[in-house]
Amino acid sequence: MTVERSVARQIAQRLLDGESAAERVRILQPRLPEDEPIGDRMPASRDRTVAGLNRRREFLRGLGHTIDALAEGDDQAAAEATIENAIGFLRLPVGVIGPLRINGSAAQGDFHVPMATTEGALLASCNRGAFVISHAGGAATLCLAEVVSRAPCFSFHSLVEAVQFVDWATSRFEELKAIAGETTRHGSLTGLRTALIGKEVYLIFDYQTGDAAGQNMVTFATDHVCHYLVEHSPVRPEHWYVEGNLSGDKKATMQSFLYARGRKVVAEVRVPGDLLHRVLHVAAADMTRYWEISVLGGTQSGSIGVQGHYANALAAIFAACGQDIACVSEASVGLTRMEAGEDGSLYASVVLPNLIVGTVGGGTGLATTAECLDMIGCRGTGGARKLAEICAATVLAGELSIIAAMAANEFAAAHRNYGRTTPRSPSP
Ligand code: NAP
Repeated sequence: MTVERSVARQIAQRLLDGESAAERVRILQPRLPEDEPIGDRMPASRDRTVAGLNRRREFLRGLGHTIDALAEGDDQAAAEATIENAIGFLRLPVGVIGPLRINGSAAQGDFHVPMATTEGALLASCNRGAFVISHAGGAATLCLAEVVSRAPCFSFHSLVEAVQFVDWATSRFEELKAIAGETTRHGSLTGLRTALIGKEVYLIFDYQTGDAAGQNMVTFATDHVCHYLVEHSPVRPEHWYVEGNLSGDKKATMQSFLYARGRKVVAEVRVPGDLLHRVLHVAAADMTRYWEISVLGGTQSGSIGVQGHYANALAAIFAACGQDIACVSEASVGLTRMEAGEDGSLYASVVLPNLIVGTVGGGTGLATTAECLDMIGCRGTGGARKLAEICAATVLAGELSIIAAMAANEFAAAHRNYGRTTPRSPSP
């Protein structure tokens, strides 16, 4: 959050010095609606019919916006989208990498993994990592934990009351589990942890969420449990909140890194030396030397875990497969490890403790996301653990490739070759 002294002064001078300083300062002041009227609200906000969709589009066109490309496609699906104020669909380029051989506890086979991104070189990079993994015999993957939490907070008058509440609530776990179960057929309350800060009590409810990513599921279940707690507790909280910002939802946190949030997955591969040379143009020792440099760099930067670019593969798979892309913020923490074998081979592993993914609910039912999930055999019931393992193996492919590119000093050249297109205006 710090800014170097000379930069801070430049910014201040840009605002405060010179002839039109007063005008620049005025621009930053609040503009209240009574002084400067705000435009009309978006019409038909919650109308999920085609008529509602068209009203919103006309409204935007009336403001002079062009939404022709956004409005192309299936009007019915756009109208019924799981967002408010829908006006159409965004189109992103989608590619596939593969075949990626995975020998997992849930994912077994040779997969073509769909990835949506606007970053040139990303798929080329993951694809060569996938080639290496597959020709090395495949990545072993294992889902180590499945847990999604919600952490409501209850505020009491005093520490004593807070302790009484903790004692009462924690002694009723089986009862709370049954109450949570009234809101979901597939989710179940599996654990309860507590954190007490003075007179504030955080209850951390851990759930298994079946094949759903689970954030809605745990919110509804926890809300139901909270109402029961507040109504029946011998000591009543002065205030309570369904989430006290302790669960790590959509944030990279140390807590989630050390524990788990979503699915915790590990993936490993041992790559023979000749394959490394042939495809990645490096020796195992080159890889581990750069990996050590990256661990030192990552540690200095204060990163949670140390990894090269998990967010790249995850964001691209999430976008293609209808996952909540914001969850990449938490999903992309983890640890990459590399070790050179005496025979010239390279051992590489990744561990991702916070993979929030699901194959039912959320955005998984759109025509395009369903096709992408089908491509990897993950749509619907029974697919979530498999999807998590495919994500981890793809992340491993990306790590192998980027570390090799750095180790061989080919990173800039690869982006020069693949990562740029000639800028082109949209057709009139
Ligand atoms: P959801 O679509 O709200 O719920 C999943 C639905 O699938 C439930 O109705 C569940 O039924 C049903 N289901 C059918 N078969 C299932 C199976 N095999 N396993 C699990 N569920 C099955 O999705 P969600 O995963 O709970 O929540 C994800 C959504 O929440 C995303 O759209 C995300 O953007 C959003 N989100 C919400 C919050 C929040 O705090 N509310 C925060 C972040 C993100 P049952 O309920 O009867 O089990």
